[in-house]
Amino acid sequence: MATILSIKDLQVEFSGFKALKGVNLEVGDREIVTIIGPNGAGKSTLLDAIVSKSAVASGTIEYQGKDITNRFPSEIARMGIGRKFQNPNVYNELTVFENLLLALKGSHGILASITSKLTTMKRHKITSVLERIGLTEYAETPVSSLSHGQKQWVEIGMVLAQDPSVVLLDEPTAGMTPEETYATGEIIKLMSEFHAVVVIEHDMEFVKQIAQRVVVLHQGQTLAEGSVQEVQNNPKVVEVYLGR
Ligand code: ADP
Ligand code: MG
Repeated sequence: MATILSIKDLQVEFSGFKALKGVNLEVGDREIVTIIGPNGAGKSTLLDAIVSKSAVASGTIEYQGKDITNRFPSEIARMGIGRKFQNPNVYNELTVFENLLLALKGSHGILASITSKLTTMKRHKITSVLERIGLTEYAETPVSSLSHGQKQWVEIGMVLAQDPSVVLLDEPTAGMTPEETYATGEIIKLMSEFHAVVVIEHDMEFVKQIAQRVVVLHQGQTLAEGSVQEVQNNPKVVEVYLGR
């Protein structure tokens, strides 16, 4: 599997506090990597650093062989790294279809997107994203009347509409029902047909459902890495995380 994202000795500091103390991570093309670890381990900071939401103090992030460390967030997004944040960031008054249309690459603002003639290509693209997030029947539904889980899927769809090569998801199942959580796992597994996916998650059932490789962060460092079984049987992981 070719490497798409290569992170070396990454350090991030917040006014002297080291949130990441030299993290290494390789992500393969179309691989699903799950990051687990206690609260405050640095999981969100790692994703923030990849998209330049947090500044990197030292170390490097290479994407498709190019150094993207501390580049502008907009540039990183354009290059093909999509990030879904923890809080939904959707337009409630608009329909699911309209939200996805706004997110499409090459859309120029809200009014232009809605009033301009839809090209067949754009319609086709949105139709395919709707299928992939399981919301085909909700295309014309205002986002405000969707469930919490469905809103999260719209957000995942908005990331997918930008054709990223790497998708970063921070606790995508937070607040979801067990059924929604399971459905999200299936969506993520399908995503790996086209994208590499890095997922932060704490629900171990969910991790088992999706995970190919698990990375355990603890106090800004990688504590363990391997299959779900390997990390679950790792005494250090049990001590700081799973055994609680
Ligand atoms: P996790 O996502 O694993 O729960 P975070 O990456 O959010 O952990 O946080 C790691 C550590 O960095 C925590 O101690 C947190 O308080 C600190 N931290 C995160 N973001 C900031 C920030 N913007 N300013 C200061 N400290 C931060
Ligand atoms: Mg977090």
